[in-house]
Amino acid sequence: GNQPRMLAIAEINNREPMPVDMPEALSKIWATDVFNLATMEEALSKNAFKAMKNTVQTGAALDPGTADVVAAAMKDWAISKGVKFFSHIFYPMTNATAEKHDGFIITNSDGGAITEFTGSLLIKGEPDGSSFPNGSLRMTNAARGYTAWDPTSPAYIMHTDNGATLMIPSVFMSWTGEALDKKIPLLRSNAAMDKSARKVLSLMGETDIATLNSSCGAEQEYFLVDENFASSRPDLLLAGRSLFGAPPAKGQEFDDHYFGAIPERVQVFMQDLEDKLYRLGIPAKTHHNEVAPGQFEIAPYFESANVASDHQQMLMTLLKLTAKKHGFLCLLHEKPFAGVNGSGKHVNWSVGNSTQGNLLDPGSTPDKNLIFLLFCGAVIRGVHAYGPLLRAAIASAANDHRLGANEAPPAILSVYLGDQLEKLFMDIKEGKLNETAKGGEMDLGLTQILKFERDPGDRNRTSPFAFTGNRFEFRAVGSSQSVSGPLVAMNTMLADSLDWIAEKLEASLAASSNQTEAVIKVLQELMQQHGNVVFGGDGYSPEWHRMAVEERGLKNIPTTADALPALLEADVIELFKKTGVLTPVELASRYEVYAEQYILAIEVEAKLVVDMAKTLIYPAAMSYLSDLSSAISGAREVGVELDATVVNKVAAETGAMMKAVEELSSLIGKHDFDTTEDHMKFCADTIRGLMDEVREHADYLELEVSDELWPLPKYRELLFFR
Ligand code: ADP
Ligand code: MG
Repeated sequence: GNQPRMLAIAEINNREPMPVDMPEALSKIWATDVFNLATMEEALSKNAFKAMKNTVQTGAALDPGTADVVAAAMKDWAISKGVKFFSHIFYPMTNATAEKHDGFIITNSDGGAITEFTGSLLIKGEPDGSSFPNGSLRMTNAARGYTAWDPTSPAYIMHTDNGATLMIPSVFMSWTGEALDKKIPLLRSNAAMDKSARKVLSLMGETDIATLNSSCGAEQEYFLVDENFASSRPDLLLAGRSLFGAPPAKGQEFDDHYFGAIPERVQVFMQDLEDKLYRLGIPAKTHHNEVAPGQFEIAPYFESANVASDHQQMLMTLLKLTAKKHGFLCLLHEKPFAGVNGSGKHVNWSVGNSTQGNLLDPGSTPDKNLIFLLFCGAVIRGVHAYGPLLRAAIASAANDHRLGANEAPPAILSVYLGDQLEKLFMDIKEGKLNETAKGGEMDLGLTQILKFERDPGDRNRTSPFAFTGNRFEFRAVGSSQSVSGPLVAMNTMLADSLDWIAEKLEASLAASSNQTEAVIKVLQELMQQHGNVVFGGDGYSPEWHRMAVEERGLKNIPTTADALPALLEADVIELFKKTGVLTPVELASRYEVYAEQYILAIEVEAKLVVDMAKTLIYPAAMSYLSDLSSAISGAREVGVELDATVVNKVAAETGAMMKAVEELSSLIGKHDFDTTEDHMKFCADTIRGLMDEVREHADYLELEVSDELWPLPKYRELLFFR
């Protein structure tokens, strides 16, 4: 036929890699478009540079005079590179990236053009943002938001077809100073963690303590689909995932046969992407080996959490833009294809500074190990005490397909430590370490015990939250999500745990002359209260699902509708309040925005299901029925009675599909709920249930209806390209 799907199939054989220039040497392009410390050292006076460097490293406020000097230097640098516009770039609560563009050129009163860019323009952008959701803050603040420069994340130049723009990383807040974005809480959570970590380090006898920061290295998974196929799939274009599609005959195993080598087109795409990322100072390394056909991974080297978070957003933007240029649609959705491995974003996270180093690194001396054990213990306590918060931080309509379903990682938050460390913490819990005391001195043998070799093959892939040698890896984060939310939750729960530890440790140290003994005593109490969250077994097993809930008292939280209300719990409100990360009003507005996003995502999908079933699938099924019926009646005229099983079955399935479509269609508009939570639950159960029902019939039809009549590119086509 000449329908788009058939044309795309014909076209795919003629696909060629996009011609791109030979890659330039990394040393020549690295961070050339970034106004980083190295650039500033050249462009600024000694004093101004010193002030900026201090701000970048400690987060200290910048005085207005220096801001003016930096603004002038930034502008000159940008203009020398052909830039005419600048933009405050910010991160609203929706996981998106937003920009507000302005020109450097402004006209003066004589009508002449001058270039002006002052410290105050740099620091504060124009009011904007009426279209950005801000939860309950909308009422009080007339929906106005302000952007303000974040000097701790470097400005950079973004090149697009419309020219080059100086991008200024910014926070976004309301007129009255409430956080409306994902950056402000991240900066605050770092500060809270710094304050609490300092207390513990001081108690442990550390004196010179540089500002502590959290680090993040995120592994981003994604799918590529040929744009010719994608363009006849409204679901991929509008919802980012396939709402219909029978699983391919052999599932994803067939990638061994078909997809052993990365098609040249994809290699060229990756090279082009890397070139762009390097110029922007994003230390990315593409990996070519993902589980599903058409699935890939890119993992930048870790950086300070705030910069890594900005870079993650840039990476997602560039993935999509670059893919488009190469004739692909890049899908960042957590579950684009049912029955095929989904996409996650492993967030590797640690905390440290320049004086004590990485505090989640076991280290090689016993005293360093004690500090490590305290920080590791603090994480264990945090995940136990605030598991539902962590679950809420990764909750979305899309990620529910991974977490609540039978796919890794489970929706139960547990901590994997590895055999050695788990045994050590369990020994501490059971007081076994005391037995090794010799001559009044405890010999923990920690140096030997904690000399792990990092063995990637040995790591438990079924855990949502795993210790991986010198950091924790939060694996339940979704591929399309901002890493900021999870980082905020981790930093904040850590701050709270470190406060708890500091209080206990102070008393314990006062009561004991032996530091090791005092530390172990605190850790023993911690493990007795929170050790239930440590689990080294198979996180996918039904046995764990039962045991976690019934014996360990952990929560299994399958959907976003179940997860988000954690943000309304008293302990979570108190956590954010006392750490200064989010006020109760800010937290409540977040709940509303995330809940709205969830409901909206499901409504958009449900409408698409109705639309596609009615206008694409039903007509195809009816054409096929008509073909079959005419064949049967034609045969009857010549005295042959054809078997009518198929026609009956197709008719029955089509009827059942349309019945579910009608019901779904009538319920999408239902909005009379007492609470937002009720509305979310309705979406999670009733709407999603009906969507699944429609799909079941449609996918059956896909396997029956003549291939030529089927309008939607099939999984085998979407997942295969050249
Ligand atoms: P794997 O696939 O085995 O999990 P990768 O090498 O793909 O490992 O990714 C590991 C990620 O963890 C990288 O982004 C890396 O930079 C990051 N990472 C390494 N050390 C730390 C650390 N101390 N803190 C945060 N992230 C880290
Ligand atoms: Mg990983």
